[in-house]
Amino acid sequence: MAFLQIPIIINKKTVIKKMGHENVTDIPGNILAEVEQALHEAQEYLDPCIWYEKLKFVKDEEHERLILPDGSYFSGKHAYNNLYLADYLIVAIITVGDKLGSVSRACFQKGYYLKGLIFDIIGNVALDNLGYSFWLKIVEEIKSKNLGITCRLCPGDNDWNIKEQQNIFSLIKDNGVKVQLNKNYMMDPVKSVSLVYGVGKNVEFTRAGHDCAVCSSERCPYRECPADNS
Ligand code: SF4
Repeated sequence: MAFLQIPIIINKKTVIKKMGHENVTDIPGNILAEVEQALHEAQEYLDPCIWYEKLKFVKDEEHERLILPDGSYFSGKHAYNNLYLADYLIVAIITVGDKLGSVSRACFQKGYYLKGLIFDIIGNVALDNLGYSFWLKIVEEIKSKNLGITCRLCPGDNDWNIKEQQNIFSLIKDNGVKVQLNKNYMMDPVKSVSLVYGVGKNVEFTRAGHDCAVCSSERCPYRECPADNS
């Protein structure tokens, strides 16, 4: 098991876009001031953490399953077809912590709806960026080995049963994981995600799901367009 903490830089323009505005100039000055204040405060609420594990698996072609080291499996066409060519899997749990979500909920409870919404959006943007940073960390390790990487796969996508999220949590053996999975397979803190990548020499290198315009990884060699920081 490995543990990473990567700082998060949140792009103001991305937050504003997620609020439904194309440009910073499209929103009234008082709302822009709220966004800027929330961005400032959010830095101290972020607690970015990544726990991950590299795993071998055995292919079960007949049942379209990947059998994992502890006997559990990932199943369904979506998971199987995307991952079966991999030499190994990377399973991960990523979170930006619980404070941002708590602050957002507290704002809503007190009737500060705009502020609550802004903190909620900042949490989503922060989680996306932490995910990009994790991908970049993996890619830095594999690029010299001529290995490819699948798109990011999450239980609950397409036909992949969300219950198999439990397998990711069981495979990451660390008592320090600060993300809980409840009986409805929802994560706490909510600004968290569990995911799987397949890595291997027969896997195509993919950037699917990467939006470089909203990513703060300025030195990423795979960047397709500049970050939109205007
Ligand atoms: S710059 Fe683009 S390719 Fe690189 S990590 Fe960010 S989103 Fe992904």
